[in-house]
Amino acid sequence: MLHTIKPGEHGALGEPMAHAVQACVHCGFCLAACPTYHELGQEMDTPRGRIVLMKQVLEGNLPWTAAQPHVDRCLGCLACEPACPSGVPYRDLISPFRALAQPHFKRTPVERLRRWLAGQTIPFPGRFRLALRAARVGRWLGPLVPRVLRPMLELAPAAVPPAESWAPVTPAHGLRRARVALLAGCAQQVLDPDINTATIDVLTRNGIEVVLPPAQGCCGGLAWHTGDLAAAQAFARRNLDAFPADVDAILTNAAGCGSAMHEYHLILRGTPDEARADAFRRRVVDVSVFLIRLGLRETPPDTGRRQRIAYHDACHLANAQNVRCEPRELLRAIPGVELYEIAEGHLCCGSAGTYNLDQPALAASLGEQKARAVAATGAELVASGNIGCLTQLQAHLAKSGSALRVRHTMQVLRDAYEGREK
Ligand code: SF4
Ligand code: SF4
Repeated sequence: MLHTIKPGEHGALGEPMAHAVQACVHCGFCLAACPTYHELGQEMDTPRGRIVLMKQVLEGNLPWTAAQPHVDRCLGCLACEPACPSGVPYRDLISPFRALAQPHFKRTPVERLRRWLAGQTIPFPGRFRLALRAARVGRWLGPLVPRVLRPMLELAPAAVPPAESWAPVTPAHGLRRARVALLAGCAQQVLDPDINTATIDVLTRNGIEVVLPPAQGCCGGLAWHTGDLAAAQAFARRNLDAFPADVDAILTNAAGCGSAMHEYHLILRGTPDEARADAFRRRVVDVSVFLIRLGLRETPPDTGRRQRIAYHDACHLANAQNVRCEPRELLRAIPGVELYEIAEGHLCCGSAGTYNLDQPALAASLGEQKARAVAATGAELVASGNIGCLTQLQAHLAKSGSALRVRHTMQVLRDAYEGREK
């Protein structure tokens, strides 16, 4: 017999989950927006299907493992949220459910090892750099590498860019208009450290002083999205302590990190840090939003060159943070830029944190489709605001033989200021 999830049931996360479950009226408007429904065509892999499954599990009518394959296949892309006329906060359900389900879901030793390896390397730049270097050797060793590690090897870039470092404080050029703290991002600073260099350059040119708190760490997003609540809480607390209060905003230039930091109140719900987590997350802003709110002090010079740019909406920027206009506005501020929209732009590119490792076939299918849609725009460059999307786009465009360049919005803007093409 069904009963409503009561406040207090399932600990501190029970209430937001109950609210999300009860808000769903099962209308099905979200189905068309969901990439896994698009791929698999079955009800249990839709937002509505997953909500029903999670409800039944939380009410004790189904075993946890009944929901596992469908919950595991969810990208966490949140395309279902803007599509929902009832305003179901799906984000309040999926990650909390994964955290509660962690001890109940059945995983093979191989799956556990792969998850453990990802959790112990990706959030730590030093370890991640070493792991990518080891992956290059692993590729050379080929079949001698254990099967568990092969999907990780396939994802590793052929070359790891040299490490870059940034000053704890970079002063604004000219008169200071604002002071911000920047999250450096863990995977991003290894896979493409130039994104932070470009971000700092664009901000300081526009009169913004940039602080990089030395004690900062991973945003905790990877742990949160894979159900490791304890690790997500530890990462969140570290950042609560590391970021200074005397800044106008805490900026992120990676959509996934920004979205995770916006959920610190949920990650730390029911703990003594909940209130300060809530205050913290309200200060977190994507770099594009901060720049548009403040206004560009100088626009890039007109080199007389036309540039055809497609903009890819990262799910964790567009759906999770409702940031769609600001990056486009920044790109349009560059003289000579023609901006192109990507068909079926709401569909996730398949990157989604460790989705490539956990669901390689679905991730590859979504990545191939996205690469085709980007190439079909006729653009010469695709810009986005998330390292996961950039890596996925790069890999699938290269696989398809496309020479289209892939750049972060801040890199495009920095290059435009410098009057160069990269
Ligand atoms: S659109 Fe919203 S209310 Fe309708 S089924 Fe989907 S989540 Fe439920
Ligand atoms: S988060 Fe994305 S994959 Fe998951 S149910 Fe919503 S739309 Fe589907």
